[in-house]
Amino acid sequence: MQLLDGNKVSEDIRDEIRAEVTRMLAKGLRPPHLVAILVGDNPASKIYVRNKMQDCDYVGFSSTLKRLPANLTQEQLIQKVQEYNHDPEVDGIIVQMPLPEHIQPQDITSSIDPNKDVDGFHPLNVGLMTLNFPGLMPATPSGILELLHRYHISTKGKHCVVVGRSRIVGRPTSILMSRGGDPGEATVTICHKHTPPEELRRICPQADILIVAVGKPNLITAEMVKEGAIVIDVGMNRVEAPGTKSGYRLRGDVDFEAVAPKTSFITPVPGGVGPMTRAVLLRNTLEAFQRRHGMPVEDRIRLS
Ligand code: NAP
Repeated sequence: MQLLDGNKVSEDIRDEIRAEVTRMLAKGLRPPHLVAILVGDNPASKIYVRNKMQDCDYVGFSSTLKRLPANLTQEQLIQKVQEYNHDPEVDGIIVQMPLPEHIQPQDITSSIDPNKDVDGFHPLNVGLMTLNFPGLMPATPSGILELLHRYHISTKGKHCVVVGRSRIVGRPTSILMSRGGDPGEATVTICHKHTPPEELRRICPQADILIVAVGKPNLITAEMVKEGAIVIDVGMNRVEAPGTKSGYRLRGDVDFEAVAPKTSFITPVPGGVGPMTRAVLLRNTLEAFQRRHGMPVEDRIRLS
């Protein structure tokens, strides 16, 4: 069993981006600029956004954190997004989820200029990804593919089972794994809430590559994993851990201790997919800057 070390790979990606920013500055260009909009006081969201701003500092991007009160209207939020859409000094915009209940996340996502949509959630970018055209790619699915790529894991012709079909993780991951490209070209099965538990137990052990994005600790047990399988655990669950400083521990959706010995590769939680998501966000911001300035962008899609 080998760990897919998202911390190490994301560090490499951050260093590559930092070197690219240094080259751009030497040519007299300004650094890429990411704006993060945080609505309300959700403590987990505050930590996520703070980490993203720190990542920007590390690679040499400029960044702006715009904090807005939880009681602002959807129209006010869209107006703020549009201000940043029209600001030529802004290259990437993210609106941290979740949003207060009176705001429709899809309306906000759709209000971001697709060329600045560095989370890759805008319907236009989802369409481009689905059709295998260049565009800004969803951060977590793209991070999963990058991790497979950097560990030279071949996906062509493999059976990939994706558990979960959310707009931001499961569904786009299933599209990326099945479409042409490298990684890609896999035979994909998608499971979700309406997949009966006995079906889930029958399908998962058929996976050469098992990708789980549900949000339920220990959903995947050892008997659901084939010997030698590759397991990507996207889940991030806080489980109580008395005696620890915070009182909780982060766990994935996979029973790691029991499953890991059966696998050929597995992601840890934390330290697997999470840091890759952050790294892809930086890379998307760099790409958004490069596209907007007519610079060549590395073809990461490896179209077939
Ligand atoms: P989500 O929007 O709640 O989607 C969960 C998906 O799981 C849904 O498609 C749901 O099916 C499916 N599901 C629920 N119960 C199931 C079951 N018993 N069997 C099979 N499928 C089931 O969550 P998400 O945003 O995709 O996130 C999933 C997990 O990944 C969470 O723990 C989240 O914190 C984590 N996450 C991690 C990262 C990272 O960077 N590491 C990024 C994003 C999310 P239906 O569609 O039928 O409801």
